[in-house]
Parts: sequence; structure tokens; C-alpha cells
Amino acid sequence: MKIRVLTLFPRMFDCLNESIIGRAIKSGKLDFEAVDIRAYSKDKHQKCDDTPYGGGAGMVMTAQPIYDCINAVDPTHEYVRIYMSPKGEKLSDGLCRGLAANDNILLLCGHYEGVDQRVLDLCIDREISIGDYVLSGGELAAMVVIDGVSRFVDGVLGSAMSHEDESFSAGGMLEYPQYTRPPEFMGRKVPEVLLNGNHKEIDKYRKQQSLEITARLRPDLIGKD
Ligand code: SAH
Repeated sequence: MKIRVLTLFPRMFDCLNESIIGRAIKSGKLDFEAVDIRAYSKDKHQKCDDTPYGGGAGMVMTAQPIYDCINAVDPTHEYVRIYMSPKGEKLSDGLCRGLAANDNILLLCGHYEGVDQRVLDLCIDREISIGDYVLSGGELAAMVVIDGVSRFVDGVLGSAMSHEDESFSAGGMLEYPQYTRPPEFMGRKVPEVLLNGNHKEIDKYRKQQSLEITARLRPDLIGKD
């Protein structure tokens, strides 16, 4: 999968070079690049923001650098062009799976008060939010989307890991509790059933735990899937 992020702060994306996503980038499962919008500004000081028409606090990102940047990265509109925005569709397990089915995604990160509406109207296919709160920029939101989506791209998690028995996947429930060595820690024992190697029993126990935890913490998820 090819992912391009358009941002005024490309170095923020350096942290994607770690862990599972970092490995996927190194092995070529993900082709990722953070593109600096400022490099496309025609202003003599490479300015990319200005005061809002109609007044009000803060600055708005200007249309020209974003328009030229999008058209340089995606001249034939092969990417799904997404603007990270608190007004967008809320990110979910289903949305991550859906986005992972695309070959190319482009994520535009706003900053300050946001982006001139005209460039959104001209270039953007959809808007995605990571929740009902306002961040100072779209960069962290884009990283959440990249991580959440990449897990569903073939080969990213590797054969040892699966996304199919995680929270929100198996029947839309939350996951059962996990334990690892040692069998006893600070006087607390790992549930006996997990130690006896009886996979039928383990499966039954985990399903029951999953149901109990979901009913307690997220009753809204029960019967949803
Ligand atoms: N003035 C805007 C918020 C701008 S916040 C409003 O009130 O709607 C600055 C930038 O951060 C936005 O352009 C967007 O790209 C990003 N952003 C802020 N909150 C976000 C969220 N919940 N999800 C995704 N992106 C967000």
C-alpha cells in the first residue's frame, strides 16, 4: 500500500520508523512518504498561512501550496484523498478495514485554524476524524489512521500475529485478558484454565471473559455485529 501524508511538519512522522509500522516500511509492505507542503508555496517567504477572511482568531492554511502539492503527488487522482478533520467521519475498526482495501491513500494534515475551504472542495474525497475533540494539527490524527489501517494490509502484522481476535473484530467484542510468564506475580496467579493446554476449554473461557468484559465496559457493543 502506498501512503502519502501532506504536512507542514514532515519530521513528526519520523516516529513511524519504529516497531511494526517501521518494519513494514523497511520491508516494502508499506510505501510511505511525508511530503512537505511548504516546498510548494509560491510565496517568496514560502508562507503557507494567512489571516481568516471575516475575522476571528488564528491563521488559516492557504489553498495554493496544498493544491500544488496534491497535484504534484497525485496528478492523475489515483489516491483516495483524505483530509484529517474533526468534522469528518469518525474512525472505527470498520473504516480502517475499508481504507486498507485501497492501493493508495493520501492524508492531508491541517494546522492552525484549518484549511481554506476551496482547496478541500476542489481536491478532497473524504474527511476523517479520530474523535470528538480538537487537536492542534492533523499529524497525530494521520498517524493514528496509518497505524490502524496498516494492520489490515497483508503482511504488515506477520504470520505470528492476527488482527482477527482483537477487540472490535471477533463479533465486535472487546478482547479477553492476556497473561504471560511467570505463572504467579505478586501473589496473583494466571487463571488455571490457561495452563492446562485444553484448547477447547481455553476457547470457551476466553469467549466468556470477552462477553463479560464487553457487557461491563462497553454494553453498547453487544449485539451490534
Ligand atoms: N477550526 C477547526 C479545527 C482546526 S484544528 C474546527 O473548529 O473544526 C487544526 C487541524 O487539526 C485541522 O485542520 C485538522 O487537520 C486537525 N484535527 C483537529 N482535530 C482533529 C480530529 N479530531 N480528527 C482529525 N483531525 C483533526
